[in-house]
Amino acid sequence: MKNILSRVFGSRKNRQLATYRSRLAAVNTKTASLSSLDDAQLRAAYQNMRQRGDNGETLSSLLPEVFAVVREAASRSVGMRHFDAQLIGGMALFEGNIAEMKTGEGKTLAATLPVCLEAIAGKGVHVVTVNNYLARRDAEWMGALYRFLGLSVGINVPEASMEEKAAAYRCDIVYGTNNEFGFDYLRDNMRYDPNTRLQQALHYAIVDEVDSILIDEARTPLIISGEAGDNITVYKSANHVAAQFIRCENSDAPGDFIVDEKARDIHLTEDGFTRAESLFGETDLLKSGSLYDPSNLSLMHHLNAALKARHLYVRDRDYVVQEGQVIIVDEFTGRLMPGRRWGDNQHQAIEAKEGLAIQKENQTLASISFQNYFRLYKKLAGMTGTALTEAEEFRFIYGLEVVEIPTHKKMIRHDELDRVYRTTAGKYRSVLTDIRACAERGQPVLVGTTAIEDSEKLSQLLHQEKLPHEVLNAKQHEREAHIVAQAGRAGAITIATNMAGRGTDIVLGGNIEEERLALEHDESLSDDERKEKTVKLQTAWKEQHEQVLKAGGLKIIGTERHESRRIDNQLRGRAGRQGDPGASTFYLSFEDSLLRIFATKRVSSLMEKLNLDEDEAIEARMVSRTIENAQHKVESHNFDIRKQLLEYDDIANEQRRMIYEQREHILTATDMVPIAADLRTENLRQVIDVHLPPETPEEEWRATDLEKLLAGDYRLQLPIAKWLSNDEDKPREHFVELIINEAEALYAQKIAHTDVDSFNGFLRSLTLNIIDEHWRAHLSALDGLRLSIGLRGMAQKNPKQEYKREAFEMFEHLLTGVQSMAARVMYALTVRDKPFESTDDTPPPATPRNLQYRHDDTPAVTTETSPPPPAIPETEEETKAQITTFRRMEPKARRNDPCTCGSGKKYKQCCGKL
Ligand code: ADP
Ligand code: MG
Repeated sequence: MKNILSRVFGSRKNRQLATYRSRLAAVNTKTASLSSLDDAQLRAAYQNMRQRGDNGETLSSLLPEVFAVVREAASRSVGMRHFDAQLIGGMALFEGNIAEMKTGEGKTLAATLPVCLEAIAGKGVHVVTVNNYLARRDAEWMGALYRFLGLSVGINVPEASMEEKAAAYRCDIVYGTNNEFGFDYLRDNMRYDPNTRLQQALHYAIVDEVDSILIDEARTPLIISGEAGDNITVYKSANHVAAQFIRCENSDAPGDFIVDEKARDIHLTEDGFTRAESLFGETDLLKSGSLYDPSNLSLMHHLNAALKARHLYVRDRDYVVQEGQVIIVDEFTGRLMPGRRWGDNQHQAIEAKEGLAIQKENQTLASISFQNYFRLYKKLAGMTGTALTEAEEFRFIYGLEVVEIPTHKKMIRHDELDRVYRTTAGKYRSVLTDIRACAERGQPVLVGTTAIEDSEKLSQLLHQEKLPHEVLNAKQHEREAHIVAQAGRAGAITIATNMAGRGTDIVLGGNIEEERLALEHDESLSDDERKEKTVKLQTAWKEQHEQVLKAGGLKIIGTERHESRRIDNQLRGRAGRQGDPGASTFYLSFEDSLLRIFATKRVSSLMEKLNLDEDEAIEARMVSRTIENAQHKVESHNFDIRKQLLEYDDIANEQRRMIYEQREHILTATDMVPIAADLRTENLRQVIDVHLPPETPEEEWRATDLEKLLAGDYRLQLPIAKWLSNDEDKPREHFVELIINEAEALYAQKIAHTDVDSFNGFLRSLTLNIIDEHWRAHLSALDGLRLSIGLRGMAQKNPKQEYKREAFEMFEHLLTGVQSMAARVMYALTVRDKPFESTDDTPPPATPRNLQYRHDDTPAVTTETSPPPPAIPETEEETKAQITTFRRMEPKARRNDPCTCGSGKKYKQCCGKL
């Protein structure tokens, strides 16, 4: 039915190609007139279109002219004129699709078309490659074309300095890897000076080898982590200070701090502050005399943790000490939970209290998944030789359509049926025989393996056979690219894992481009010598080329099926480029993990019946089908895992977006005063609401407590109780305003003589500092939540929903925490003679050190050592099956108690909000 329909109406795909074809005709018409222009006129023609773009013409309407100019410019600058197929590919890319163009079709050149078209918009174009070598190569290779047209191109690589990176980002076009762009994004959102940020709004990206980046690599997120920035002495000093503090026995008694057992929190009194300042003052930790200086923010935090360690965490009830380690005791089951740590420096504070070695912690500072990074681009496009098998995922996750671009010449590669052996040994023997036969005929052969170990094993066998060969395993991209470039020489034997040498063209007869260039630049040669040598080189290549053609072109041998069909297709695709001859064969055995795990009974019994010799193979459709089915299963399993990860990351993503937006707002605000005022008064309102709850009789108001709290944490002396008794008949709102106004007046007095500019800078770095510290703590809390959610005894509940709910609560907690911290620091501020330091990009003192940039390789599902990663449980049964002993760490506060986060709100209105 579908067939008939598409014959009558044309399939969507055909219709799309038809539109592209009609535009192609338009490009071709334009091209004709361009060849008569000289170089300067051609460049002027492009610049003229930039002008027209500025004047409001749409890129889409400029497409035919721009493509025509770029094509002509390419043939003059890089010596290649875009094929029609590349123009069609370029259109698909421009429209934000994935262009599936086979290996060797010239995707590098095709991408220049939409790149130059988008460059007209002037909002930045990123070309994303799978490794740094390719970023450099492609930027340099295509650079000639861009410069010809008057466009600048930058290379974004990890070894570049900040200045070099900034310069690269200022270019019209930037080439770089997915990791580098992603890390830059995260780093930009950790900065303290807006001028040091690298990226603008993300506008348009073309991702090369898009399946590898958006699918394979998207299984794990990018993570920046670091050691907590505080040094060990901080914990010891805080512990020392805490030891000398005197506890208030009841709320009227003198002392340094009040323990709130119910909320499991501790508040300092006024005396406590004075004492803390003088005790810390004896150490060199207190950098500027006042505890309420942004550079000392973390001291307050440490002191709080140290006091909690002494007064709220009880040895042998909450934790035990074993072999120098503090081990958490599960509150409900009493079981020990080795390996888990309390967050927020609490664990180290307890280690200090117990006089144990303090353990350095690695903290997640920022993280993002590739899915969420690439969804930030306003327009995204991709290209690869193999996308169709994953079309659904591209559509579902990224909203990208796959467009299959017809090859420029007919594909004539011969793909043989799989040969299946009983044992691995038998399989390898046959692989060897095949390789030897190729070598004897002078046919180059590329052997693909699914793992480095297999490559090495095969290499050993070849050594024994005295067959010279090269082994590549995607570790040294540049070196491997050079080797793989010669993999098409007569008789060459190359073994490679699937990513090795990807992106490098395999020319039959080998690549002589480098040698030719060397001759061209060799000053010691006379022109005649040069000419002669060049001709000789070319003749030699021609001979090689002919020989390889005669031997059948490049031969591909697969030693196993990969768990994903796409990767097998990639391997096959290395042969038969641009109409070259070539062949491919996969050798399998029943001992391969894919077959072992997934072979059906029918296949196994067939094998038994056949009673094959080790060296005999079957080529049966049934087996091939079984394998395809197995691959299907693994592919969809992997897709599910990625979907799951994404669903969790989406929640964090929403929060990350909000935090980054806030940061951005603060970072770029010219006037911090109103922002800071909002933070202060909002927090005061909440604190007042808790103590003088609206719509409750006045007898229940706790004015004295409020007075104390403000005098302590906020260092605000306000006679609130007196005000209330003096003016009994005034409405509540009168007192709220009075408190806020008085607090603000005290604040205004204090900062009256500060320099406006430097105070602005102070407020900026203060708020950023507080946001960052809270965000970091939040990230580790989210990590913990994710780990525990599947394990949690939340039967009857959907873990994803639970995660969502708790993450949301934690985020609210974060927001009120930020507000409350900022308010307290500002009100309690002591203004010194020394002017406030203005903002620059020096990170605040508590910033973690030894930053690590991580993007984990995830093992394949079928590798022996790692069982398929457990999916996050979906159903109740699964959840129950995974229950271990995890429980909430902190006992829950009661609903009417003040919230443990220190926001001043009631628990039920704050973190306990449902
Ligand atoms: P892909 O990335 O699609 O596998 P490449 O961009 O590496 O392919 O190009 C493969 C080869 O084709 C390169 O050697 C390149 O020089 C050549 N090539 C691409 N486009 C053209 C063209 N229009 N004219 C001539 N050669 C081309
Ligand atoms: Mg390529």
